[in-house]
Parts: sequence; C-alpha cells; structure tokens
Amino acid sequence: MFSNLLPCPAHLKPLGGSRALAKHEPTLLNDPGLPAEGYRLSITADEATLAYSTDAGKFYGLQTLLQLRQTDGTVPLALIEDAPAFRWRGFMIDSSRHIQTVEEIKTFIDAASRFKLNVFHWHLCDDPGWRLEVERYPRLAEVAAYRDGWGFGNDNPERYGGCFTKAQIRDIIDFCAARHITVVPEFDIPGHSSALIHAYPHLSCTGDDVAVLKDACVSDNVLCPGKETTFDFCEGVLEEIIDLFPGQYIHIGGDEVPKDSWDACPLCQKRIADEGLADSEELQGYFTKRIAAFIKSHGKTPIGWNEVLNAGLDPDDVVVCKWHDDRSRCDDFANRGGKIIMEETKHVYLDYDYHRTPLQQTYRYNLLPDSLTAAGKQNVLGIEAPIWTEWVETFRRMCYMCFPRLLAAAELGWYGKAATDYPDFKARAEAQRSALAAIGVEMAPLSDWDPE
Ligand SMILES: [Zn+2]
Repeated sequence: MFSNLLPCPAHLKPLGGSRALAKHEPTLLNDPGLPAEGYRLSITADEATLAYSTDAGKFYGLQTLLQLRQTDGTVPLALIEDAPAFRWRGFMIDSSRHIQTVEEIKTFIDAASRFKLNVFHWHLCDDPGWRLEVERYPRLAEVAAYRDGWGFGNDNPERYGGCFTKAQIRDIIDFCAARHITVVPEFDIPGHSSALIHAYPHLSCTGDDVAVLKDACVSDNVLCPGKETTFDFCEGVLEEIIDLFPGQYIHIGGDEVPKDSWDACPLCQKRIADEGLADSEELQGYFTKRIAAFIKSHGKTPIGWNEVLNAGLDPDDVVVCKWHDDRSRCDDFANRGGKIIMEETKHVYLDYDYHRTPLQQTYRYNLLPDSLTAAGKQNVLGIEAPIWTEWVETFRRMCYMCFPRLLAAAELGWYGKAATDYPDFKARAEAQRSALAAIGVEMAPLSDWDPE
C-alpha cells in the first residue's frame, strides 16, 4: 500500500487498513514547530490531518497524499512525519545544445515537483546557442541563438535555434513558484561562449568572428578578461538576469575554459602583470572573483562549476557544483567552509546512457563521502542531476534518459541516502510509470534500467 511512495518519507508508521477521505479532508493545520519543508500527515480511522509550518511543507504533504491514493480512491491509514535531508534537490536542463518548448519544460518541471525536487538549474547559454533574451544586447536573441544546421551528428542543414523571451521565462518562473521550485539561471562564462562571441566578436581576445558550435567540442573562443568591455558586457547581462529571476542563486559556469587565447593575448598578459597573478589559471580566478563580487553586491549568491576552484577561491566567494573534480579541490573547499552541490558525472549525468550509468549506480551515490570531515559534510547543500542535450534532440528522449534516474536523485536528496533495498526502490520507481505517462512523461522500459 505504500509502494507508490517516492521519495521515501523520513518516518512512516502504517496503522493497518485504509479508507476513503471525506471531501473536507485532510484538515490543514499550521504547526510552527515543524521544520521548513517538513510536514506531518496523519490518517486514522477518525480523522485525516496535514500539519506544516510553510507552504512548501504543505505542498510536499499533498504530494505524498497524492501518491498514497489507491486506484479505488482509498488511502492507507498511517502516520508520516517527514522533512528533507538536503535543502538542494535539483535538476538541470541544457536548453543550448537542443532547445525545448515552454510546454515541454513545464511538463518536466511538473513531473519533478511530484518527487519533491526544488531547484531547476537552467543552462541557458553555451557554445551551441544562446537562449535568453537580453534587451541591452539584442544580437544575443537575433544572432547568438542560431546555428547553421542542426549539428551534433544530425546532417539536417536547416538553421537551428531559438530563444526564450522574458515573458516565456517569467511564465516558467511562475509555474515553478507554484510548485516550490527555485529557478537558477546559468550564464556560463568565460568559456563556452562562442555563441555570444559570434554575436559580439569584440569580446574575445582576437576579435575574430567565430561560428556557433554544432558539435560536442569545447570551443577555444572564450571571453577576454583583459578587456574592461568584457566586464561591462557581463555585468549588463547579469543586471537583466538579476531583475528577471527572483531566486537567490545565479550560476556563472566557469567550466572547461581553454587558456590558449589568454596566453597569447597582450591585454590578458597585461592584466596578469597588473594584478600580480601567476598565470592564466589565476586570471580565471580574478575573473570569477570579480563577477562573483558583482553578483553578491546585488544580494545574490553566485555558483560555479568546480573548475572555478583551480585558482583557489575563498569559501565565501561562490557555491560550487562538484561534477568532475579530478584535482580533489571540492572536498577541501567544503572542509574549509565552502558550500558544495553534489553532481558527479558517473552517478547523476543523465545524458550518459544506461550502460554507462545504470539506475543502481545513481541510487548508490554517496553524497557524504568519508573524504569530507564532519564539518565538511554540513556544507553539502544537496544533489543535482543534469540532462545535457548534445545527443538528446527530443523531449521523448529526454524523459527516457531522466526517468527513472531522476527519481533516484530525488530520493537521495530527500531521504539523504538510499532509503530502502535496491529492489524495493526499483519497484517504487516502476510504480510511478502510469502517473508520469498521464502527464506526458514516458519512462524508460524497466528492462533498460540496469543493462547486463
Ligand atoms: Zn585577452
């Protein structure tokens, strides 16, 4: 009777039997003693109550109730006292490499919200296309948003692209707010910038025009931190992002920044000399600190991919997404007081196929490894699972890749670790199939989840 519950609640006490709820049930109670996002659901033979201290807690309690409802309309009698282990329970959608419609994004968000995920990290710009309307820089929507052909192995020569208007983005932000999901926009700089450099070539070291990428390479064309105009541009974009997105966090990327153009650029070399930096790696540190300071001066919190730590940042400079930390800097950063989000490729990169990342590899992701001290573990904000879209051209494919693995991420984020034995989790994930199909999300077939 509890086989539909996902994520697993922190405390569940079955009382035996079941009954239909009356129209006025559950009775809603405000209980300031409950944790934010927590709730207490009590369904006895005599009454059904849902207690919470915040609207988010009420929303999560109602999601649990929705999952408890049996096909005959009854709900099992039970006491559930529940709250999340982690405050960051995220999913990321890459809209640059392949773009989705507003309706597709809403469908995905709706699905994610049923499993108590609460952060939508939106990867809005990258080498293969810019997807965010910026009024001050109209060529981003007009020029940087399009590439010459579909690319990524698809030989369709048709111009490919598109850009979300501010009205569309506000619509999605409101849709998320109704489901207690924060939207975190990503402005990926100074690398992954060839689309914007195609629109504004003077922002690179050489000023040469470059094409919007249509393959999975990392472009060598990056922003020039030797030029003040680069900072003017970034701050102009950030001002509009800060106005548009009400959430606390702004992601500034910082991943995979080739340094060849900086090594050869007189302005970058002058900046390195003037600022007393050692090399181009430290120049990225300078860039990150300066952009992060701008964001913080507007009362927001910057986030970066783990490469931003290569130049050595202070724990209060940024929040860091740990995706591929081959220099082991995230653990040290967290142990020194920095906040990190667990997002490692081998567990939660949902664009990797099921042969490379079977469902059980996602479910067995340890968010609090022993490489973290007790204090370091306190600095893990939670988990995030991205879907990169180089090889994900359609929404159907996106759903196939994300469901059920996103459900495993949701359970780890809410319960804090694998909550039950793996076959039990698998059965609870499979039990979501019809409810997801009803809203237009088709899960991967069970036989594909854990290939031999
Ligand atoms: Zn330069």
